[in-house]
Amino acid sequence: MSVWLAAAVFLGQEVYMTEEEALRIVLPGAEGVIDAAITLDDETLRAVEHRLCRKVERTYLFYLGLRRDEVVGYAVVTEEVGKFLPIRFMVGVDPQGAVGDVAVLIHREAIGGDCRRRRYLDQFHGKTLNDPVRRNRDLLHVAGATMSCDGIARGVRKVLAVVQEFCINRPANVQTLRVQDRPLRVHERYLMGSLCKISAYGETPIVDEAIQAAFEEIKWIDARISHYREDSELSAINRRAARESVDVSAEVADFVRLCLGYSEKTQGAFDATVGPAVRAWGFFDGKHRVPTAKELEELKRMVSYKHVQVEGNAVRFAVEGVSLDPGAIGKGYAVDKAVEVLKKKGITAAMVDFGSTLYAMGAPPGQDAWSVGLRDPRKPDQLVGFMRFKDLALSISGSYEKFFERDGRRFTHILDPRTAAPVEGMLSTSVLCGSGAEADVLSTALFVLGPKKGIDLAKERGVEALFVPEDGSFVATKNWAQYFHEE
Ligand code: AMP
Ligand code: MG
Repeated sequence: MSVWLAAAVFLGQEVYMTEEEALRIVLPGAEGVIDAAITLDDETLRAVEHRLCRKVERTYLFYLGLRRDEVVGYAVVTEEVGKFLPIRFMVGVDPQGAVGDVAVLIHREAIGGDCRRRRYLDQFHGKTLNDPVRRNRDLLHVAGATMSCDGIARGVRKVLAVVQEFCINRPANVQTLRVQDRPLRVHERYLMGSLCKISAYGETPIVDEAIQAAFEEIKWIDARISHYREDSELSAINRRAARESVDVSAEVADFVRLCLGYSEKTQGAFDATVGPAVRAWGFFDGKHRVPTAKELEELKRMVSYKHVQVEGNAVRFAVEGVSLDPGAIGKGYAVDKAVEVLKKKGITAAMVDFGSTLYAMGAPPGQDAWSVGLRDPRKPDQLVGFMRFKDLALSISGSYEKFFERDGRRFTHILDPRTAAPVEGMLSTSVLCGSGAEADVLSTALFVLGPKKGIDLAKERGVEALFVPEDGSFVATKNWAQYFHEE
């Protein structure tokens, strides 16, 4: 080592820049880079050598530049001998096969280092394999650095031939590199009172930024529609809308409209105005109690989506005591918005997991779907199997999630809006469909309706559903089994 170092100093070795710095010069438009050592197979090597009419090496340090999900260029680090010793340089090539830029990393000889000057290297810009790049005719070399300049010109043509044969003529090679190299990034954040986990495949740092942006979106939604936050727009509605019409943002008005629409579509089985009943049973603050029959009569009068009017961005309650509870839709709604953000940021394979509602976008590289464990509602710490799906949301409502027991009876947090009392006889319902909000709404609504009436609603809405009543039987829509796997 020390001998080599001494020799290098003696010979005038100069390290001009690192690979990272060179990448910024030759792949300026790239937001993410995949690096790999590539080895040309016999056929590709022959094709490269045929183009260059000379022998070349088989293995290269290769970089793929990406922006969003698109290839913006290739770069190769290579060496060519100047006078006696190799010069190490990087060549960037655009997706059409023309040189973007060249950067010299290491020059090892006492003279010739001027080949790194921009006035020489800039001449390669736009050159393709069809350009001969001959000294004096096509390129002006740098006086005193002739051999080094020739070395670079040779190397540029070599890289052009490698990119042409390895990437442009054989695009499957690029695809393989992309799939192999896409790491799974997983981030978690505590949001809306639950842990939200987002897993996504993609090039870092793009994928990390996209996940953080999705979390921020959820945080933004929660700040507006949470009924736990006093300063949210939803809380303002709950406090004032019985007395006056409350102006809210367009997003919140749309959200309330969405809730009302789903109440109609589920014939009131989902009803966000269960708020007062949820509070009366103590599910809001955890102080569980059984309301009296008189209280229940009063609650029944307050609970109905028909008491809510939205006009433009103004919300008004027709009856005193009405209160909106987004508990059965909020997370599904947020999951959809998070997925939209991920898509906008160019992510194509991700899982947004909010516990009871999750969305699988695309599929992991080389696979056709995401796999999600399905809990056994009879023994919630065990799995009954797996659901495999892509571009769909899965939402599960279960009596085991939040409940309390009094006098041997179990009271679950899912209420029947018609009686203002907890639903009886169901363990869980699961819904698979294209929207997180709809899956969330329907898992709750089907829980209220039970398998007999619920199955008709599931069919009408065109979703797949699984009902597990208290007797432990499994009732499912026709195609549910296509997604279900025992292992
Ligand atoms: P989920 O876990 O999605 O089924 O939602 C249950 C939560 O939604 C409960 O904790 C309540 O806050 C609220 N909720 C309960 N019953 C209903 C219902 N029938 N319609 C709308 N929201 C409900
Ligand atoms: Mg729900």
